[in-house]
Amino acid sequence: MPLSLDHIKSSHPHLHRAFSSLVDGALHLHRIIEFDRYWERLRQPVHNVIMPGDTLPENAVISGEYDLIYAGGTLSLLHAAVMVKKYGRRVMIFDRQTPAKSTRDWNISRNELLNLSSTGIFTESEVDSVIVRRYKTGWVEFYQPDGRQKRLVMENVLDCAVAADKLLGLAKEKVLAIAGNTILAENSFNSCYQFDDHIVVRVDDHDGKPFYYKSKVLVDVMGILSPIAMELNAGSPQTHVCPTVGTIASGFENVDFDTGEILASIGPAEIIPGGGRQLIWEGFPAEGKEYITYLFFYDEAESPNDKSLLGLFETYFRTLPAYKKPGADFLIHRPVYGIIPAYCHDGFNRTREIADEHIILFGDAASLGSPLTFCGFGSMVRNLDHLTADLDRALSENNLSKKHLEKISAYEPNVASMANLMKYMCYNATTDEPNFVNDLMNEVMIVLDDLPQRYRQAMFRDEMKIEELLLVMFRVAWRYPRVLRATWEKLGVPGSLSFLKNLAGWAVSPVR
Ligand SMILES: Cc1cc2nc3c(=O)[nH]c(=O)nc-3n(C[C@H](O)[C@H](O)[C@H](O)COP(=O)(O)OP(=O)(O)OC[C@H]3O[C@@H](n4cnc5c(N)ncnc54)[C@H](O)[C@@H]3O)c2cc1C
Repeated sequence: MPLSLDHIKSSHPHLHRAFSSLVDGALHLHRIIEFDRYWERLRQPVHNVIMPGDTLPENAVISGEYDLIYAGGTLSLLHAAVMVKKYGRRVMIFDRQTPAKSTRDWNISRNELLNLSSTGIFTESEVDSVIVRRYKTGWVEFYQPDGRQKRLVMENVLDCAVAADKLLGLAKEKVLAIAGNTILAENSFNSCYQFDDHIVVRVDDHDGKPFYYKSKVLVDVMGILSPIAMELNAGSPQTHVCPTVGTIASGFENVDFDTGEILASIGPAEIIPGGGRQLIWEGFPAEGKEYITYLFFYDEAESPNDKSLLGLFETYFRTLPAYKKPGADFLIHRPVYGIIPAYCHDGFNRTREIADEHIILFGDAASLGSPLTFCGFGSMVRNLDHLTADLDRALSENNLSKKHLEKISAYEPNVASMANLMKYMCYNATTDEPNFVNDLMNEVMIVLDDLPQRYRQAMFRDEMKIEELLLVMFRVAWRYPRVLRATWEKLGVPGSLSFLKNLAGWAVSPVR
């Protein structure tokens, strides 16, 4: 039963007013509170959901048998569509909400999106049909008190607005077009039971009634809330997070529908209970008169800052006019929100757990995407071809052990190294001047502006080469030596060593 909006009337008045204008405001409030349970879970003992086969209840009846069972119905649909159509696999997808309905929309460039058509599953015209707007340019800018911030302009970066639900809907149709596949709404993952040659998944329906399904592999795509990721990573599934909220709205004054505002900070760090946060805005034109605005910040998963989406939404609605001014006919079409995960690997290669016997994690559950600009959607699109081909081969060869499945991953050594840069963007009230993150990032923008355009495109498309990153880092340190002290304060010896290990792993990687 969704919570009533009255619940937040006095604690979050701006959010209350805005959500009261939405038909499904209470439902969104409920989902936001569900996301915010993540913070409590980080503090609680890990709840075990992966069980040995011999503990499967004796009265458990198997209701269906599949090659693959996907827990979670967002990015899973892209993967499942390929497994079904290209590899003839039989799949089941279930979600505790509605599969193929996301709480966000996506930006990407067209060339990157065309990876979907190169799988042979989507036609080029289908890919084009989910792009609801293309921009001429995009820019990134970090606040300077004297107004002299460098606006870094770039082309072909995050310049296509993708209607997430339209794309997922297409994938869903493809899965259901072939008999034998199942998609279930309002069914929740409860636990799973590992046997030598298969896995049984317990799924609870809307009324809490348990059903058991058998599969060769359970694909965990439950996003940041995945209890499997929590268990496999001993209660620390992410090292960093990026709480993000926003709206798809219309009726702003003076928005430019030809330009994407990729990152826009408009003030110094905000001091809040527990420390402080450097808030960053994004503005992306969408379909027709719609315009998407996001507000987010980077932080350590364990920091004492208030990282709740509820709190961030209150800040969003309170401060939105300072970024984009709502006009007389301002209308919110829907809110968008989530916690973008990040994981900094302490090693030469992937150190996060992303598989177990007959279990594999993809998407945000695996947390291998970059938190910087692209996140899990970009990562899935880039890696879809091999994530599907490799899993099909593993199924054919019956190589479904943890040791084998964990090799099927979206881990990219360049993304892992770049994720360290996010640590510099986490404001720390005890060591940083309020404008530190902006000052540093402004220097990065100046350096990138001096280099050919491909450097900035590569940085914002997760395509940087190691020598390019080293050149940018060297030039920033030369211009702004304060970054060396920040490295000591923010990364310390352990963090600096793990950054060096990531870089070394990247240097020797075949995909440099
Ligand atoms: C506001 C916002 C904007 C973004 N924009 C971009 C972008 O422009 N480009 C980009 O690359 N990335 C973007 N991202 C990141 C991207 O949206 C995510 O990486 C992507 O949605 C991850 O998909 P997922 O399927 O792994 O997880 P999710 O999208 O989180 O989906 C997980 C699904 O699992 C279901 N689930 C959870 N627990 C259970 C359970 N116990 N039982 C059954 N089902 C369960 C949930 O209901 C949900 O449907 C954005 C994220 C946010 C928050």
